[in-house]
Amino acid sequence: MTIPDNCTFCGLCCTLTVRLSEKDIKRIEKGSGRKREEFVAADNDGKPLLKRENGWCTFFKREGRIGICTIYENRPNNCRDFPGKRMCDLAENPIYNYTDKKTEEGKRIMQLLNNAPTSATSEEKIKRSQEEAERTFKGISGK
Ligand code: SF4
Ligand code: SF4
Repeated sequence: MTIPDNCTFCGLCCTLTVRLSEKDIKRIEKGSGRKREEFVAADNDGKPLLKRENGWCTFFKREGRIGICTIYENRPNNCRDFPGKRMCDLAENPIYNYTDKKTEEGKRIMQLLNNAPTSATSEEKIKRSQEEAERTFKGISGK
């Protein structure tokens, strides 16, 4: 799966729970140089999940309004498959109705929501965000 057509690189999807396979773990260890204890958490049944810090995936980084995956080439298959369709509608998911806006994590999620696309977001705004993301990625990679 490639990036959805309306992706604004808001980074909201990097707040979701991500399951890891053994293959994912080995690939990330090799690519990032980090040991599994540093990025693997467990669900109630002991199955591996990507570790989160203050609500964010441990590999997530924010540059201004743009969310960046610092292990993009080696990211887990779950992340590669998201959202599984051409358009992202995560911002309209009711789970965010219950976000506690008073907590630090809640405040950050609301910031991301402001930059996430919904069905009402104009093509122009999406284009602007994508151009900003392109500039940000160029700045980081130096290309
Ligand atoms: S939540 Fe959707 S729009 Fe935001 S970064 Fe993820 S895929 Fe892109
Ligand atoms: S591995 Fe990358 S794409 Fe997946 S949740 Fe973490 S930062 Fe986001």
